[in-house]
Amino acid sequence: MSYSKARKMQAKAFGTTGAVKQAAGAADMADCAASENNGMAIQKVPSLGAVGNAGALGRRGFLKALAFGGVALVGAGTGLTGCAPAKGGGQAQAATIGSSLPQNWDEECEVLVVGSGYAGLSAAYEAAKAGADTMVIEKMAMTGGNSAIADGDFAVCMSSAQAALGIEDSVDKYVADMVAAGLGLNDIEKCRTLASKSNETWEWTRDVLGVEWDADESGKVNVIPYGGHNTLRTLHPKLGHGSAIVAPLLEKLEAEGVKLKTGRMLVRIFRDDSGRVVGVQVNEKAKDNDPTTGSPVYIKAKKAVVLASGGYGRDVAWRSQHDPHLDDSVDCTNQPGATAEALGAAMKAGALAVHLDWIQLGPWCSPDEEGYGKGPSYIDANVAYCPSIDPQTGKRVVNELADRRIYSNAIIENGVPLIQIVDERNIPKWNYDANLEPAIEAGITKKFGSLDEIAAQYQIPADALKETMARYNGFVEAGVDDDFGKKIPKDAKPVAEPPFYVTRIWPKVHHTMGGVKTDANAQVLDIDLKPIPGFYAAGEATGGVHGACRLGSCATADCLVNGRIAGQSAALAEAIA
Ligand SMILES: Cc1cc2nc3c(=O)[nH]c(=O)nc-3n(C[C@H](O)[C@H](O)[C@H](O)COP(=O)(O)OP(=O)(O)OC[C@H]3O[C@@H](n4cnc5c(N)ncnc54)[C@H](O)[C@@H]3O)c2cc1C
Repeated sequence: MSYSKARKMQAKAFGTTGAVKQAAGAADMADCAASENNGMAIQKVPSLGAVGNAGALGRRGFLKALAFGGVALVGAGTGLTGCAPAKGGGQAQAATIGSSLPQNWDEECEVLVVGSGYAGLSAAYEAAKAGADTMVIEKMAMTGGNSAIADGDFAVCMSSAQAALGIEDSVDKYVADMVAAGLGLNDIEKCRTLASKSNETWEWTRDVLGVEWDADESGKVNVIPYGGHNTLRTLHPKLGHGSAIVAPLLEKLEAEGVKLKTGRMLVRIFRDDSGRVVGVQVNEKAKDNDPTTGSPVYIKAKKAVVLASGGYGRDVAWRSQHDPHLDDSVDCTNQPGATAEALGAAMKAGALAVHLDWIQLGPWCSPDEEGYGKGPSYIDANVAYCPSIDPQTGKRVVNELADRRIYSNAIIENGVPLIQIVDERNIPKWNYDANLEPAIEAGITKKFGSLDEIAAQYQIPADALKETMARYNGFVEAGVDDDFGKKIPKDAKPVAEPPFYVTRIWPKVHHTMGGVKTDANAQVLDIDLKPIPGFYAAGEATGGVHGACRLGSCATADCLVNGRIAGQSAALAEAIA
């Protein structure tokens, strides 16, 4: 199916905005992701049985995650944006080269990093380690961005974890998988850098940051299957989410004396007469992701500004300009600050932006809860081990290990949510321990004793369902999927022994592949394709690395590899007076 056809189907399937349930106690960022009533509703999809309760990461869970290891958040915590609608989209005043520099700078540093996710924190760490006086600004009240609520899965090639399990991998294989998913739109040089530095970066998280990675009883690090990867290479943090990486990075920055200020929104980037980036305007206590609010503070960056402001999945106004199908009827997995005003400021300062209309839907979301919720971590970890079924026909419609673009398009084309059916013994142990109970408690996953019960609950033709399960189980035993070519993992068993666990799946906006274009040193290019002096970027704020579709677990690699390069390059930039 073509992309445009999929998008048309998507528009048809998404329908109109449904009722939004307000989650109780919306006081922190994660609760905002669940309760933010900015038109992000549970998508209108055909309802089967009771729709679950609102279920993004709860306040307690999120705070616990960020407090991991006793980390005190180093931000000033000026508490700005709350849960209000995302109004981003680059309304900051235009910055023209050499004109309208502020009369006075209020503050100064050498390297100013915008954003406190994987990319920003790793850039700040490297810049500070290289001796630069470094400051991080973050517009939200809490640090961490999408990185803190992510699963933290990390695609690493040629790791010791792979070697211990006899898995052969290479930079070429990794890049080939990225490019296949990305439809060849990827910046190949950047893909190669990401793949070739993935292992040293993973070892850095382990040896320097002290991140623990999920392992079996014998201590071997588990390597898990992931959609679109033709080789097993993804590693999962023991803690189960990205705060396992964010929290120790925050600790390191504190130790390095990096200033980290929350409640400060980048709205403008200044360039001097020579075209060099020399500083920024941030608005303190801006509200509702709106760059026209708040009090201006002018910060001189004597060496460089590093843009690490993440993606714009939550910015409905911006994203629907690039893909009109992705209006406010389409839910999103991101934190509420994932908006585009920083990207807009970079573009007004002359940055080249690419691939802005490649916006990824995560296929493993639940239509029965809002935001990321409890579903995706649980559902995605099962996809290698079980089928997903169209309840209308009782049949499979897609390779469940396809990349996200293919899988999401297939669900949307199907018109109704697919039904993931897994039996207990096929749920990976770490997933069973960490994610099954929360999914059941959130009301999105239900337990059944037989296929007949499942057929009755979801109104699936029972005979067709049984035939499909038998056929799928034959593929598992043979190790070959004759219908869709799914790569059946060696440890998969026939999905045949009750209890079964069943979850409905439907796509939500998850990742934005577009952003500013950078060169090999992470320096931002202008519209003449020349590097802008004093301006660097990394992570989801950049575009071109992943092409049409980011592979799962490659964002951790992208953000950390390129974040570190950006920080190292920024520290080397010549300082202005
Ligand atoms: C729920 C979820 C699960 C995921 N799981 C995985 C996974 O397991 N593996 C994987 O590879 N990828 C995963 N991803 C994707 C990946 O986590 C993100 O792409 C990555 O965290 C982005 O990191 P970043 O540093 O670029 O941006 P972020 O972590 O989003 O940080 C950007 C920060 O910049 C701030 N900011 C934005 N605008 C401004 C401004 N104007 N001024 C100041 N600050 C600003 C934001 O508030 C935010 O805190 C997941 C994403 C989500 C949403």
